Amino acid sequence: MSEAASPAEPVRSAAPGWYRGDCHVHSVYSHGGELTPEQVAAGARAVGLDFVVTTEHNTADGHEAWARLGDGDLMVLFGQEVVTRTGHWLALGLEAGQLIDGDYGVRDAVVERHLAAVHRVGGLCVAAHPYAPYPSGAFVYPYRGFDVVEVWNGPWTSDLPWQANNEVALAEWGRSLAADVHRGRWRPAIGNSDTHLDGQIGIPHTVVAAEKPTPAAILAGIRAGRCWVAESAAVHLEFNLVVGGRRAGIGEELNTGGAPVVAQVQVHGVPAGTVSFHTEKGVAHRTVLPATGSDNLEWHTSAAEAGFVRIEVRHPDGRMAALSNPITLV
Ligand SMILES: [Zn+2]
Ligand SMILES: [Zn+2]
Repeated sequence: MSEAASPAEPVRSAAPGWYRGDCHVHSVYSHGGELTPEQVAAGARAVGLDFVVTTEHNTADGHEAWARLGDGDLMVLFGQEVVTRTGHWLALGLEAGQLIDGDYGVRDAVVERHLAAVHRVGGLCVAAHPYAPYPSGAFVYPYRGFDVVEVWNGPWTSDLPWQANNEVALAEWGRSLAADVHRGRWRPAIGNSDTHLDGQIGIPHTVVAAEKPTPAAILAGIRAGRCWVAESAAVHLEFNLVVGGRRAGIGEELNTGGAPVVAQVQVHGVPAGTVSFHTEKGVAHRTVLPATGSDNLEWHTSAAEAGFVRIEVRHPDGRMAALSNPITLV
């Protein structure tokens, strides 16, 4: 990885075994999409992404065009944005041509049947932009049955009221995490651009740990929460918990044996940003990055103090630059 990752020089893969991808993109096959699949794929390559999941609104018609666009540099996974009457959800990892029904609302109590159709083919169901403030955009289904929450959708700005929903989605996800981690099963967070127009791809995107660069391994990494969200490929985050000779990364569990734990964080690309360490007690530690935007940080804790640790990296004005899924301590 490069020491000085400037915004002009995307860091391609964050580290060996980590893949940058956008799991929510639209082309001309979706209402409001202005780009051809070829243009979206070219944009994904240009901003340093390793994979995209195509998620057109309630159609599989784009799958055939998208299938021609994957190669050794860019993996293409099939998906759909299931636009229902009371919220949108993403089906990731569909079979080519597979269509998921979206013609219902929460009062029909049928969503489980459609989630099952995705799970049958090994796919993931994502609650999309849960607090989008436009008609039918707010997600009102229970999270039960959904695998993942899209806590970060599009640019993280709070000055535009219709984009302030990321902060609310993150707060709700963070609130549920403590109880869910304690029960041994929690819902990972991801972030996606929801690209409709030129210049939107990859802002933000999800960086996933996978054993190999295949769709199944990428989906397994997301399912396990082995992922973090980056504002762009100029931002780099590494986060591990270490005890004795043992180490756990994002999404993993560390058996501490009651010993003190060191949280190690490496950040590039966020000048004068703030790194905060979150546990079930809220913000447990906070530190400011130098003007170079790069630093190696350590913070000491234990399983007695923290059931999990997750990281947020924010710009000086409060906008999010990166956020991680938790590492669990037992
Ligand atoms: Zn949507
Ligand atoms: Zn969308």
